[in-house]
Amino acid sequence: MKITSAEFVISNTKLDLCPKPDKAEYAFIGRSNVGKSSLINYIVNNKNLAKTSGRPGKTQLINHFIINEEWYLVDLPGYGYAQTSKKNRAKWEQFISDYILQRENLLNLFVLIDSRLPAQKIDLDFMEWLGEKGVPFSIVFTKIDKLSSTQKHKNLMAYKKEMLKYWEEMPINFSTSSSGKTGKEAILNYIESINIA
Ligand code: GDP
Repeated sequence: MKITSAEFVISNTKLDLCPKPDKAEYAFIGRSNVGKSSLINYIVNNKNLAKTSGRPGKTQLINHFIINEEWYLVDLPGYGYAQTSKKNRAKWEQFISDYILQRENLLNLFVLIDSRLPAQKIDLDFMEWLGEKGVPFSIVFTKIDKLSSTQKHKNLMAYKKEMLKYWEEMPINFSTSSSGKTGKEAILNYIESINIA
């Protein structure tokens, strides 16, 4: 899929203030600093669309973008950063889970994972929760430019091994680098294949 336009629509913290659910929607989520804003900007060819966060956890909103005037791309707040209160975290969990579980046009959630790190409990728990709730998702490994091809292979195998403790098979996954500009075609083709289906 070629990106011909990408525009910001609205940011909010409430499901009922999101745009009318009349278009296919794909959301991106992951731990703060995983490279989500950079990946979104790389995917849509606009280095300023999603705000890259200097301070982890700064972007606490559901951000809607309209792509090719046809589908919504959603930038969800990062999770798992330390500098926040319990109260804030509870609020986050509520509005994100409302969005994930109730957004009727959400066709796939891309869960971003830093390819350099061993599997993190917070991500594994989150994906287990998605599985229990029947939310369709796939994994996007980020920052693969930081790894040699041997290391990349090793890390992905280790991740798969970890996932197979809970999952019957490894979910669909993508390897990306926004710095190295690799991996977006596979994601866009995947989105296109769901849009057409
Ligand atoms: P977010 O908090 O998940 O939105 O992450 P950002 O997109 O703001 O990126 C966090 C940090 O990781 C920044 O310092 C980025 O420059 C860096 N980063 C993001 N993507 C990549 C990548 O593909 N490769 C490398 N080497 N660094 C990246």
